[in-house]
Amino acid sequence: MSTHIANPSRTQAIMAAHGFRPKKHLGQNFLTDTKILTRIVDAAGVDATTDVIEIGPGIGALTEFLAASARRVVALEIDAQLIPVLAETLAAHDNVTVVNADVLKVDLPALMAAQFGAGQPAKVVANLPYYITTPILLHLLNSPAPLTQLTVMMQKEVADRLAAGPGSKDYGSLSIAVQQRMQVETAFTVSRKSFVPAPNVDSAIVNLTRRSAPLVAVRDQAGFDRLVRGAFAARRKTLWNNLINLYGKDAETKAKLTAALAAAAIAPSTRGEALSIAEFGRLSDALGAQGV
Ligand code: SAM
Repeated sequence: MSTHIANPSRTQAIMAAHGFRPKKHLGQNFLTDTKILTRIVDAAGVDATTDVIEIGPGIGALTEFLAASARRVVALEIDAQLIPVLAETLAAHDNVTVVNADVLKVDLPALMAAQFGAGQPAKVVANLPYYITTPILLHLLNSPAPLTQLTVMMQKEVADRLAAGPGSKDYGSLSIAVQQRMQVETAFTVSRKSFVPAPNVDSAIVNLTRRSAPLVAVRDQAGFDRLVRGAFAARRKTLWNNLINLYGKDAETKAKLTAALAAAAIAPSTRGEALSIAEFGRLSDALGAQGV
């Protein structure tokens, strides 16, 4: 039997020894393929100088591999029942700290400063819980914590949305929110058979590298984000219909919207999914100039 945690029979044995049953509502699907784990650590470019935040260590399958390569690993696990399991499975690694916390609620900048040193950057490496992938991604993207890179496993459908461009059915506000801040590269896909219990979908590992500046410079990032969400609020509606739903249907607002669209050289009859990030940027600035 392999000495690694990521092995179907060892995973079952660890769970049985602790009377642990995976919780579907917490997205608990544990990796049981060491080849995949090696590829994740390689794709993340983790070495002895890297500090890592792991989200959701589960029973420690990925954590064990990260610990063997990284300088330090801080693993955030929401499920208190897994804390004693991890204490046992990771006992041999003195560069790992497991914290019982919800990644969406923990003060990440303070935790990182305390664990890694003030201002010290880190990479996130994680097999994300599927039920909450998008909120976690948006939370990390907008966090002031010095996270330089996210190498994260997610449902393949979500990975496709992150990488999608204009005109694709997968292109939407998530694609733009992510691409505005990060470079997106799909590293590889993973079969559902590599997990215990097996999820209903296949997965992909995505590398997100933080840009030094947003992809498209805009005068008001919050206004841009609001415009983009509004433009995709009803995908089958025209841009114009989504804009009047977002900003208002009165004559004065309509005149400003018409002027902004003309200034940005965008047809009101187009759909949000046809607009590039640069076009959204132009429109956002033109709306700002109109005081919308
Ligand atoms: N890393 C392990 C692996 O690859 O085998 C487990 C990955 S499993 C897909 C997701 C893990 O995230 C589970 O252990 C789950 O309890 C944990 N989790 C779910 N929601 C969380 C949250 N909000 N904050 C921190 N951990 C969470």
